[in-house]
Amino acid sequence: MPTTSFPQHLIDGYRAFLGGRLRSEQDRYRELAEAGQSPEVMVISCCDSRCAPETIFNARPGELFVARNISGLVPPYTPDGATRAVSASLEFAVKALKVKHIVVLGHAQCGGIRAYVEDSKPLSPGDFIGHWMSLIEPAAKAVGPRGDMPLDEYLTKLEQASVAATLDNLMTFPCVKILVERGKLTLHAAYFGVAAGRLFVRDSASGQFVQIAANEHAKIFGTPRF
Ligand SMILES: [Zn+2]
Repeated sequence: MPTTSFPQHLIDGYRAFLGGRLRSEQDRYRELAEAGQSPEVMVISCCDSRCAPETIFNARPGELFVARNISGLVPPYTPDGATRAVSASLEFAVKALKVKHIVVLGHAQCGGIRAYVEDSKPLSPGDFIGHWMSLIEPAAKAVGPRGDMPLDEYLTKLEQASVAATLDNLMTFPCVKILVERGKLTLHAAYFGVAAGRLFVRDSASGQFVQIAANEHAKIFGTPRF
């Protein structure tokens, strides 16, 4: 055993993976290694440690192509030659993997959204989070002024509006727009309520986030809000 400062709980976790999931999924891993991946779904979500898409959607290896960043945002299409991680992930998902669905997954208690709301000091060039979160200005405008609204309620509205605005930004990418218009790619907005584990999906007609599998959730957990 080499001397290492690698965290022990990660080693323990890998041991559990070896004896559990890897054992049961070994054939699938081998097949994926030989044939390559062909996930049908891309998920764009927050880095937040409570919102791993693979866990929430109980995904098997090879099922989800995931891009995560602070608050799960997508900057609008900007072909300026800069190194753009989200654009590169998106291009690969759409053009190489030919995913059929892109799910933008927001979540409750998002630290990035809260930072945008609470941190109003002028941005310095080294304020990476501040500059990144300025991407949600259109969502904040869509929600309107907070007024007397309780902070939690306002944050929820902004978190959900941010997901909807990210779908708009996705449509600024020509490769996305053309496939959506041809019916070969569908965009979805989803929202995960961390405390109670409720999952909401945006109804494209009404624009409202509607809880899915609500009956099953209520049967198992009762009905706390989010
Ligand atoms: Zn977040």
